[in-house]
Amino acid sequence: MKQKTTAFFKDEFNDLDEKGYTWTIRRLEGPSKPHVTVDGKKCIMLASNNYLNLANHPNLRKAAIEAVEKYGAAAGSDWSIAGTMDVHQELFDRIAEFKNTESAVTFQTGFAVNAGVIPQLAGKGDILISDELNHGSIIDGVRLTKADRAIYGHSNMGELEKVLKEASKKEYRRAIVITDGVFSMDGDIAKMDEIYNLAHEYGALTYVDDAHGEGVLGNGYGIGKEFDLEKEIDFQMGTFSKGFGGFGGMFAGSEYTVKYAWNTARSWLLSAAFPPHVAAVNLAAMDVVEKEPERVKKLWDNAKYFKKEIESLGFDTGYSQTPIIPAIVGDSKKAQTLANMMYDEGIFALAIVFPMVARDKARIRNQMNAGMTREDLDTILRVYEKLGKKLDLI
Ligand SMILES: *Cc1c(COP(=O)(O)O)cnc(C)c1O
Repeated sequence: MKQKTTAFFKDEFNDLDEKGYTWTIRRLEGPSKPHVTVDGKKCIMLASNNYLNLANHPNLRKAAIEAVEKYGAAAGSDWSIAGTMDVHQELFDRIAEFKNTESAVTFQTGFAVNAGVIPQLAGKGDILISDELNHGSIIDGVRLTKADRAIYGHSNMGELEKVLKEASKKEYRRAIVITDGVFSMDGDIAKMDEIYNLAHEYGALTYVDDAHGEGVLGNGYGIGKEFDLEKEIDFQMGTFSKGFGGFGGMFAGSEYTVKYAWNTARSWLLSAAFPPHVAAVNLAAMDVVEKEPERVKKLWDNAKYFKKEIESLGFDTGYSQTPIIPAIVGDSKKAQTLANMMYDEGIFALAIVFPMVARDKARIRNQMNAGMTREDLDTILRVYEKLGKKLDLI
C-alpha cells in the first residue's frame, strides 16, 4: 500500500476538471417551475425534466401535506419488511391501471429499477441486447449480469436484426432487447413498433425505459400507449421524477414478472420504501395527467413552436422528436460558454458535452415545459439569436 491518504483524489479531480468533466452544483431557491431563482439570479428554466409543470402543482402539494399528516414523515423500513404501506399498494395498483399492465411495483428511483431488476432478468445462458445510447442505469444493470451482451447502433434496426439473427443461432435460454423509450440527449423516440416486431420474430423479449416518455408520449400515458403496445412490451420501467413531477421508480408487466422482480432485485429487497407522501404525490400526479389533458397538449405545442423557431434561426436540433430539443453547437468549450452566457441573460440551460455525447456534438439541451408561455419561448429565442451571432454559431 503506497498511499495512506485521500490526497490523490485532489489530482484525480483536477484531472477531470481540466478535461471539463466536472459538475458545478447550481442551487434552486424555491420550487422547480418555468421561472426560478438559481444561485440568486432569476431565470427561465430550460433544464428540468418537470415537463408538465407538476412538481409545484397545488394537488401534488396538497397530497403531500395530507399524507404527512396521516402517515408521518417516513416509511420506517425496507419495502420487503415493514415499509410498504397501504398508500404504496394503492400506487402499485394505480400504475398498473395507468399503464394498462397486469401488475406494477415501485422502487426508490428509476435508477434502482434498472440497476436492480435487469441483473435478475437474465443470467448465464441468456443474452441482453442494448441500444448503444441507452441510459447509464441500464448500462450498470447490464454490467451486473452474467448474461452475454450485445450492443446495436443507435436505433439501427438492421443491426438489431443482425444481432437477433446471430443470437437465434445459439442456444440461448432467453434474449431481451432493452431500449430507452425517449433518448435523453437527442430527444428522439425508439422505433418501438419495429423493435417489438423484430424481437417477436426472433423470440426475444422487450424491456423499455419510459423515463422521458411518461407524461409526454401517448397522451401522457407513455410509450406503451403511443405505440399501442401496452400489453406486448414485456418489461416497462419508468420514473415519477420527470414528467409526473413526483419521485420514485416503477416497474410494470405481467403479474409474475412483477412478483419475480421485487422478490429478487436487491435494490428493492434491501432498501427502504420511499416516504408515504411520495406515494401520495405520485398518485395525485397520475390523476392530474388524466384530468388536465391540456397540459400534455401545451407541452407539445411549445415543443413544436420552439423547434421550428430555433431551426429557423439556423440551429441544428439533430434528431429531436419530443420536448427535448437540443441546439447542437459542436465544440464542448463553446457549448459551455454559450450556457454560461445564457445564464447571464437569465436563462438556465444545460450544456451537454463529451462523454455524454460525441466530442463534436456538444449541445445545449432545451427541455420544454407545459407552464412556459409563448412570451417565455420568444425571450429564449431572442437570446439564442443574439448569442448565436456573437459566438458565430448561426
Ligand atoms: C432519469 C432516468 C432514469 C433514472 O430515473 P430516476 O428516478 O431519476 O432515478 C432512468 N432512465 C432514464 C432513461 C432516465 O432518463
